[in-house]
Amino acid sequence: MSDSCIFCAIATRRAPARFVYQDDSACSFLDINPLRAGHTLVVPRRHVHDLTDDGAAEAVAAIGRALHETALLLTTRLDAAGISVLQSNGAAAGQEVFHLHFHLVPRHPGDGQLTDHTPDEGARLALDETHRTLRGGAT
Ligand code: AMP
Ligand code: ZN
Repeated sequence: MSDSCIFCAIATRRAPARFVYQDDSACSFLDINPLRAGHTLVVPRRHVHDLTDDGAAEAVAAIGRALHETALLLTTRLDAAGISVLQSNGAAAGQEVFHLHFHLVPRHPGDGQLTDHTPDEGARLALDETHRTLRGGAT
């Protein structure tokens, strides 16, 4: 764990997040700047910087179930027709949080290309509502 890492803080419940899925080795939660409604980050609980870091192979293995379960929730609860997976390694690739993570972005026919990092303002304003829907209406 890294004391200064926001995703470590979320994974240990020291910082808030809108959790979508959790197990012993991984968790997923809504991105606060969503590219589309339901944009979710899947994160290993163990801190590794990126895919080049020592321990990255184990960290990737540890998030397999979380990737699957999160994708299922986005599909069944948000009616996603598809899911784009984004992942950045290093500042040159646009990585901003240096704790390995995968972006799962729900997609619908005709919703345009994911060409930049401009959040969807409507999706940002609807984060709590999207979270309720993903949790099956639970508060
Ligand atoms: P990346 O560019 O792949 O490192 O993406 C980092 C992502 O983390 C961005 O999309 C941010 O909006 C998101 N993010 C940063 N802080 C938080 C947070 N506290 N809760 C949820 N998402 C966050
Ligand atoms: Zn971390």
